[in-house]
Amino acid sequence: MKRGAFLASTGAGLVALPRVAAATGGLDVGDSQALHTMRVLLASGAPDSPRTLDGWHFAWNGRTFRGTFSIEPLEDGRGGLVNALPLDAYLYGVLSREVSASWPRAAQEAQAIVARTYALGRLRPAHPYDVVAGDADQHYDGIEGETVEGRDAVDATAGTIVTYAGVAAQVAYSACCGGHTADAGATWRVSVPYLAGVVDPHCVGTPDFAWDAVVTPDDLSRAFGAGFAGIGSLNAVELRDVDGSGRPRIVGFSGANGQFDATARDFRAKLGTNVVRSTLLKSAMLQPDGSLALSGNGRGHGVGLCQWGARVMGAQGAAARDIVQFYFPATGFGRG
Ligand SMILES: [Zn+2]
Repeated sequence: MKRGAFLASTGAGLVALPRVAAATGGLDVGDSQALHTMRVLLASGAPDSPRTLDGWHFAWNGRTFRGTFSIEPLEDGRGGLVNALPLDAYLYGVLSREVSASWPRAAQEAQAIVARTYALGRLRPAHPYDVVAGDADQHYDGIEGETVEGRDAVDATAGTIVTYAGVAAQVAYSACCGGHTADAGATWRVSVPYLAGVVDPHCVGTPDFAWDAVVTPDDLSRAFGAGFAGIGSLNAVELRDVDGSGRPRIVGFSGANGQFDATARDFRAKLGTNVVRSTLLKSAMLQPDGSLALSGNGRGHGVGLCQWGARVMGAQGAAARDIVQFYFPATGFGRG
């Protein structure tokens, strides 16, 4: 193991990476010289040994990564493989894992601006890492995940972030909003005007716009346990407390022996986000065999930028900044 490897095995990882500590002093909108380092958790547990290739690249799990790595102690006592690298080098590895390199340039640039803003909002100097490589934050696959188009979109927007009232905005994005982006106040209790939700005509008819799923009584019992089982055989299911974006807050079950309510968010999380693809549930019909036939719109949490909608806006000639400001109304741009 050469320099950079396993620096944190003594628990002194943050001390041993002064470049990180210096770069994560927070956002400084207006200072284009700010150098930010991202620390990306690639894997936890006992990751296969990474191998240093030269001073600025390493190999792990059949892939090549920019930057350096260290093993950081995580909250659960396990070690985490953490990749530290400059913000835009990280974005190179994110862009084409989040949107296709074949998409309109403006949609890719909008993604780059939003991904950069998101990443800066996740800097956590006192934590072993800033972001997770994957669904929890942003997909990131190192150099093999990069494309010329993705790097171009990052370079063309270098330093640009979304701002609101002069400070960095809190941004989010998902694959498809289903026709109306979600209100972050209802979804996450984040109340900012630019995340209140907008009608989105652009993503209608795109591949993730509509979905159907069937969940069995066993699926429901596994997901919701004794509280659900206690209501006995199901008589009815109701989508309740529909918010302004069309998303129900509650999935209510009525059984022979009582009632059980799940929040729509819990309903999606516990049955699986690949099964219940969004909380923009349109119908939940009880079938004669006790299973539940679901239909809904969109894919993902629905807050903020809708990737499929951005693609369509780009194809229709919108510029990257127009796309961003459509999904985050009343925001501006600054340097991060
Ligand atoms: Zn949409």
